[in-house]
Amino acid sequence: MNSMFMIDGLNFCRINHRGSGSHGEGDHPPTVRTFSYHFRRKYGTSVGKIPLDVGLSCPNRERGGCIFCRAAAFTPTYLQSTDDLAGQLAEGKAKLLQGRFKKYLAYFQQETCTALAAEKLLPLVRQVLSDADCFGLILSTRPDYVADDLLRPLAEIVVRSGKACLFELGLQSVHDRSLQLLNRNHGFDDFRDAAFRIKEAGCFELGAHLIFGIPEETEEDMLLSLSTVCSLGVTHLKLHHLQVIRDTALHALYDLGKITLFSKEEYLCFLLRALPIIPAGVTIHRLWATAHPELLVAPQWHTLAGFLSRELQERMVELNVWQGQRAVTAHQHPIFVRSGHLT
Ligand code: SF4
Repeated sequence: MNSMFMIDGLNFCRINHRGSGSHGEGDHPPTVRTFSYHFRRKYGTSVGKIPLDVGLSCPNRERGGCIFCRAAAFTPTYLQSTDDLAGQLAEGKAKLLQGRFKKYLAYFQQETCTALAAEKLLPLVRQVLSDADCFGLILSTRPDYVADDLLRPLAEIVVRSGKACLFELGLQSVHDRSLQLLNRNHGFDDFRDAAFRIKEAGCFELGAHLIFGIPEETEEDMLLSLSTVCSLGVTHLKLHHLQVIRDTALHALYDLGKITLFSKEEYLCFLLRALPIIPAGVTIHRLWATAHPELLVAPQWHTLAGFLSRELQERMVELNVWQGQRAVTAHQHPIFVRSGHLT
């Protein structure tokens, strides 16, 4: 049986190419556990994401901002931070779901939503969770903006609603030298601390955002970032290659010839080595960046995300590669073996 799952440009057929029953699941898991596969299994229906903007600039912009970041590169054209939440949800339902999905996750995607004071953010959370079509929310934020003062009341609201809440922590790399180069203004320890407290609350899901192709990182560095966040209990991943966006600090470095980027072929080959180390239960929301074409400087792959998915899928089947194939348990991970503890 083949069935197709697609979200955020991740589009994978479910194909039994590994031998019947070889992994102990009645229906054969996909080569990649995509967002749409995961949430269809969880809720029995297709689920979309509606991006939302709380109207606050990211605090890291006051410190120069991350060198790769320009919010406009990933903002849906309909999304206006000046619209109130009800207006953004209505636009999102009309333009984004377009009848394909009836249910959605409210995605507080823009900037650093948890920089908003808890007394302002929590009513917005209550508002979206009160919509019967909303199955839950995703809070996209920085590891150093996960305050206990927010986690405690948020946990009460989430538990009372019976809906899901995923923290998607922007990390990009576990290597502090890379975080400095990107001007993140936080360290890996901030991520580890936030991840621990989010999990300790008991009602939140934990996700991480990583970028592959950060200058001066080797493939070993990138794979260590991936396996490390998985070992810390991350169950959702947003992954993509480094893109140079027009008029960013990274663009200036690129123009000076200081940045080497993945070619499409190199990146697909890298993914074939990276996906097997991700545990099969981890949901992958994204595997490549898709900046607005007019703002994208490089790399220019001239390929739509759907074609990338198909190409990767075909190679995974051909080479008999799948997500989770070589995943290590947390206690086999190098950072546990070195220190004897994970947090
Ligand atoms: S923390 Fe996020 S929103 Fe803020 S500058 Fe960096 S990438 Fe952009």
